[in-house]
Amino acid sequence: MAGKLEYFDTHCHLAEPALAADLAASLQRARAAGLAHALVCSTHPAQYPAVCALCARERLSAALGAFDLAGDFARAPEATLAELEAALDRGPLPAALGEVGIDRRHLEAGLGRAAEIVFEGVVAMAVQHDLPLSVHGRGALPLAAAVLRRQPARSALRGVIHAFNGSLEQARIFLALGFKLGFGTVLLNPAARRIAAVLRALGPDDYVLETDAPFMPSAAARSRSPARTEPADIALVAQAAAAIRGEPLEKTACDAAKNAARLFLHPSAASP
Ligand SMILES: [Zn+2]
Repeated sequence: MAGKLEYFDTHCHLAEPALAADLAASLQRARAAGLAHALVCSTHPAQYPAVCALCARERLSAALGAFDLAGDFARAPEATLAELEAALDRGPLPAALGEVGIDRRHLEAGLGRAAEIVFEGVVAMAVQHDLPLSVHGRGALPLAAAVLRRQPARSALRGVIHAFNGSLEQARIFLALGFKLGFGTVLLNPAARRIAAVLRALGPDDYVLETDAPFMPSAAARSRSPARTEPADIALVAQAAAAIRGEPLEKTACDAAKNAARLFLHPSAASP
């Protein structure tokens, strides 16, 4: 990638209604800002057709997931798992499974057990189909780690802990389990010093960059109309990551994109 910066957004939701109206223009801006590739996540089986069609059209990678903060899926975890299994059986296989995992809000709403059943089932499917995972563990990292650790075929596990917000000690637990840590728009907040210190302490192979667009808008993005994270914000995330790590932007962007490509791009696919 000599001379040209190329970013790989490892976690975004480009099929969300908040981006739908002007997605082509948003993607054009993102590509002009250096976006080379993205893993487009889904949160519910109803989204799979739209995410797969968008990825085929835009030559991006799709992730099929099951993750619902409102807990609707959690009221019928088995049915959600069966729908994902059916999609995998129908094929073609996606680039990854996700978004999936557990959030603090599941635990607070009494949905922790149901979220754990869905997460555990999807992790087992990832092992079975040899697919990487995009994991959500915000506010519930010890439980997410416990679910991953319980997997009998643990050596086959790999993926990203997206929007990582844990300690360096927790980061090392996930690295040992075969995961990278994903960092996004939180890096744009100068007050997020604890997360910056974790990113600074990581090795070049340990992290990837993401936007989570349209979610998790930075303070600046909240003043936009509509208030949302945009795919082009991957360039701002990479600039912030490089400044935090004290490295040239080229090195940070290249390390993160290489880590992402190793995880999410099939060896025969073009690498960024
Ligand atoms: Zn997400």
